Amino acid sequence: MASESRVPSPESRTSHPRELTVALPDWVDAVVDWERPYATDEDKMRLAIALSRENVQRGTGGPFGAAITEQGTGRLVAVGVNSVVRLGNCTLHAEMVAFQLAQAAVGTFTLAAAGMPVHELATSCDPCAMCLGATLWSGVRRVLCGATRDDAMLLRFEEGPVFASSWRYLSHRGLEIRRGLLREEAVAVFDLYRQKGGEIYNG
Ligand SMILES: [Zn+2]
Repeated sequence: MASESRVPSPESRTSHPRELTVALPDWVDAVVDWERPYATDEDKMRLAIALSRENVQRGTGGPFGAAITEQGTGRLVAVGVNSVVRLGNCTLHAEMVAFQLAQAAVGTFTLAAAGMPVHELATSCDPCAMCLGATLWSGVRRVLCGATRDDAMLLRFEEGPVFASSWRYLSHRGLEIRRGLLREEAVAVFDLYRQKGGEIYNG
């Protein structure tokens, strides 16, 4: 497993960039059924885990996937996959990609604007410190998590300063949180990533 930082080639550098693009890998539309409702928590988590698995199998990033749905209808709003190495951007965890694309879909900076349905996040692993913060800012009101922080750290991924009190903070702010959902299926993707010798960044 490569854990050292890679020095970018001179051709990959841009002087004083003014913009950047956050794009899902090409395969996403072949894997995601945008039309069907994701009615149950398990449906939503299976989608997040399927995205994490495909990201590993197709070699487009780390073993993490996320999906944002509307509560009630189960309508799929946006998905994310870990894109840190593919797009050379440490902030592009699966949840961050999903938040950014979901907010592009609704056209505003929050998924909790007046008149909107409740939005839910399903993520194949407990959010890291960055993503847990963004979960609060995103406006999702419900969070489903698969693999645990300990599972990710066993794979030597750093999760940062997330404490029991961090979770309690989100609960006190009114977010409903369900963790450990389909954990074994999510962890199986970590095992696949390890077998393939996937890169551990921020390790
Ligand atoms: Zn994260």
